[in-house]
Amino acid sequence: MVCERGTVVSLAVIASVAEACLCVILIIVKIDPKILSGQIQDHIKWLENNKTGIHIEIASPLNELQIAAKKEGFQLTVCSGFRNFESQLALWNAKAVGARPLLDKNSRRLDISKLSPEDIMFAILRWSALPGLSRHHWGTDLDVYDRQALPKDYQLQLIPQEFEGTGYFAPMHDWLDNNLSRFGFFRPFEKDLGGVSPERWHISYAPLAQQYWKLLTLEHIRQVLTQVEFELKTHVIKALPEIYERFFQRITPP
Ligand SMILES: [Zn+2]
Repeated sequence: MVCERGTVVSLAVIASVAEACLCVILIIVKIDPKILSGQIQDHIKWLENNKTGIHIEIASPLNELQIAAKKEGFQLTVCSGFRNFESQLALWNAKAVGARPLLDKNSRRLDISKLSPEDIMFAILRWSALPGLSRHHWGTDLDVYDRQALPKDYQLQLIPQEFEGTGYFAPMHDWLDNNLSRFGFFRPFEKDLGGVSPERWHISYAPLAQQYWKLLTLEHIRQVLTQVEFELKTHVIKALPEIYERFFQRITPP
């Protein structure tokens, strides 16, 4: 009898120790800083086209949002989800050397030969994040549009004119205004706060993204960037505290 009882107690102790260990492991996995700057992608689930990745934990809320949108006649589609550090770096370099168009705040193309390195850097930051500071690194942030409102032979550009006023995708985004939060999503770039341009198409899953946003420190990004080579590096490192505050920390809260 005593022996049996002792066995039960021991099993209970083992179970609680195992549970505690599991918790510690989960916490360690959660705060791996590499997840914050797009340097690992074990948490990413790839959608059917295999090009779009999302955080595995947002698959269900995203699906529910898509079902609700469909009932209203919209085909809510992700055109850009997870992006790793290297892709963001390639995008940054292409814009810095003029291999990809650099736009002003009214979506007009800028002539980079007339701009100083600082001006080029801040012009890129209006529309594209610094590698390591992109919310797309987390898989919690998505650019979405209404696929069935996309005209045939029209190339999606992700510019405000498509998403506001009488734009093709404005009706779905008007509906999202009142429904995003029901599914845990919000728009971090909703208002122009002097950092990233308003991006109505960019939505974020708050329960996870808010955690990552708080964990990604200025020190972490400084460490990551000093170890790699990229265009405008000297200017970026010099202005890093300002870039971090204006283009990363300054968001429209959930
Ligand atoms: Zn985006």
